[in-house]
Amino acid sequence: MKILVINCGSSSLKYQLFDMTDESVLAKGLVERIGIEGARIKHTRTGMDSVIKNTDISNHKVAFKVVVEALLDEKHGVLKSLDELAAVGHRVVHAGEKYAGSVMITQDVINALEECVPLAPLHNPANLMGIYAVTDALPNIPQVGVFDTAFHQTMPGCAYMYGVPYHYYEKYKVRRYGFHGTSHFYVSRRAAEILGKPVESLNIVTCHMGNGSSIAAVKGGKSVDTSMGFSPLPGVIMGTRSGDVDPLLISFLAEQEGIDNKAMSHILNKESGLLGISGISSDLRDVEEAADNGNSRAKLAEDMLYYGVKKYIGSYAAAMGGLDVLVFTAGIGENSARAREGICSGLEFMGVKIDREKNKVRAKETVISTEDSRVKVLIVPTDEELVIARDTKKIALDRR
Ligand code: ADP
Repeated sequence: MKILVINCGSSSLKYQLFDMTDESVLAKGLVERIGIEGARIKHTRTGMDSVIKNTDISNHKVAFKVVVEALLDEKHGVLKSLDELAAVGHRVVHAGEKYAGSVMITQDVINALEECVPLAPLHNPANLMGIYAVTDALPNIPQVGVFDTAFHQTMPGCAYMYGVPYHYYEKYKVRRYGFHGTSHFYVSRRAAEILGKPVESLNIVTCHMGNGSSIAAVKGGKSVDTSMGFSPLPGVIMGTRSGDVDPLLISFLAEQEGIDNKAMSHILNKESGLLGISGISSDLRDVEEAADNGNSRAKLAEDMLYYGVKKYIGSYAAAMGGLDVLVFTAGIGENSARAREGICSGLEFMGVKIDREKNKVRAKETVISTEDSRVKVLIVPTDEELVIARDTKKIALDRR
C-alpha cells in the first residue's frame, strides 16, 4: 500500500513515497524554483545516490508531472505503474477553525481552504496548487489534507483570543491559530511512547526550533497553548522572523521610516530575528560561530533565543499546572547541544536537569535529562511526513 506525501511551497514541491505496510520511505525528493529560471528536481530512491535533473518547470502541475516521471523511472523510480499509488496526503498550512483534524479532500474542503487564503496568503495558495496538480494528473485518487493548524484547535478561548474588540474575531476570525501542529503532535506522542507513559497523563512542552520556531503546551495529549499566533510571526525569535514585539512598534517604525504595511511585514518576516539582531546570518550555526569569535551582536541574538524559549517553558508550565516532559525537535532543537543547554540552564528550580554528556547527541531519539531530573528532557526528531502518511492511510483507505 503506497502513499505519496506532498508539501508544496510557493516555488517548491517536496515529496515522500511511503510503503505503508511497514511505513518505510521508498523515495523522496524536492522540486525547486518552480516558475523561476533554473528549476530542478532532486530525487532520491532509498538506498541509492540522489539524482538531479534540471528542466523547465513552469508551474505546480508540471512539477507534479516531473515527480511522477521520477517515481516511474526505470532506474531510480520505485513504481511500475501509477495504479500502485493508493492515496496522496497533502500538508496544508491553514484550515482556520473549520478542521480540527485531517480530512478527505472534497470540493467542500477545497472551498473552505480557498476561504482561508486571506489567513495564510503565503502558504495556502501553494498548498492548493498541489491539490489541483494531483487532481489534474490523477482525478480518481483519494487525497487527504493534513493541517498545521488542526492540532491547536483544542486551545481554550483564554489562550487563543486576543484582547481586541470581540467583533473583530466574529468579523475576520482574528485569533491565535498556531502552526507546526503536525510536528508538536508527533513529538509529544513519541516522547510519551519513549517514556512508556500514556500521553494523557503528561504535561509536555514541545519546542519545535528550526528556521521557524514554535513552542507548544501539550496537556493530556492536547494542545492548550502555542507561541505562534494569527500568523507564524510571533513567539520566540526565529531565523528571520522577529517573534513577539510590541504591536505599537510597527506603526511607530512605519511612520518613522515612511514605509507601508507590505514593507513592514517584509522587515518583520525576512529581515528580523537571528539575522536582524546578529547582522551575520539566519542560521544558528553561523551565529554560534560568530559569537565564539567575540561578535557581541551574535551573542545577543543567541541569548535572546534561549531567553525567549525559557520564558515560554516557564509560562506554559504555569498554564498547565506543572511540567513532566520537555521535548526538543527540528533543525536547532535536534542538533544544537548548545541551544538545549542554554535554554535549560536556570530551569533547575522547576526540576529540569540535563546531562551534559547525553546532551551531546544529535538528531537521535534520546532522553538527555539526568536520572534524578524530575522533568524528563528529550530530543525527538520530528517526522511530519509520517504523520501525514498515517492520517492519509487511516482516512482514505481504512474507512473505505
Ligand atoms: P525549517 O524550519 O526550514 O524546516 P529546519 O528544521 O531544517 O528548518 O532547521 C534549520 C535550522 O536548524 C538552520 O537554520 C540552523 O539554524 C539550525 N541547525 C541545523 N543544524 C544545526 C547545528 N548543528 N547547530 C545549530 N543549529 C543547527
